[in-house]
Amino acid sequence: MRAADVSTDLTEVLVTEEQIHDKLQEIAARVDADYEGEDLLLVGVLKGAIMVMADFSRALKVTAPMDWMAVSSYGAGTKSSGVVQIRKDLDTDIMGKHVLIVEDIIDSGLTLSWLLENFTARGAASVEVFALLRKPAAAKVEVHCKYVGFDIPTEFVVGYGLDYAERYRNLRDVAVLAPHVYS
Ligand code: IMP
Ligand code: MG
Repeated sequence: MRAADVSTDLTEVLVTEEQIHDKLQEIAARVDADYEGEDLLLVGVLKGAIMVMADFSRALKVTAPMDWMAVSSYGAGTKSSGVVQIRKDLDTDIMGKHVLIVEDIIDSGLTLSWLLENFTARGAASVEVFALLRKPAAAKVEVHCKYVGFDIPTEFVVGYGLDYAERYRNLRDVAVLAPHVYS
């Protein structure tokens, strides 16, 4: 669905499907060049990164295996708790691999900083991050993110994989959720 289909639940569209598509082509070209000749492993963070992973991985020209990790730091709320729990671990041994974490959004940065430490401890040759969205003003910890799609304001957003209580993941655009939906 598009933002217009659920317009009363949203206050503003921040990034359209077309803008996301163009950005993914641009970042995929950079990743193709940066990882030329390397053994690249994409690790998606479930469930928010499913759409980014699907479109970004297909925009790449290199073969890149995919693995998935499921962690939870939010529950059904709209604020980060900082407590990271593994719900599904990797299937792959990442020792010696060049890992690129594919994320939907960096909010507080707590989830990613935890993942970066965790993957480094497992002996990955390198660990970098691609986040489609980032809320710079919400950062509680600094996370080095090599590839960023869009910097956005500190608002709770949904769409393109991002949910509120499991809803709106199938929205094609990224939009700010209207406060009446969660208050
Ligand atoms: P962080 O640990 O605060 O950086 O947030 C980690 C996770 O919280 C992200 O990977 C998202 O899954 C989720 N999240 C953060 N901000 C939003 C938002 O605005 N909408 C929906 N989910 C969000
Ligand atoms: Mg996520």
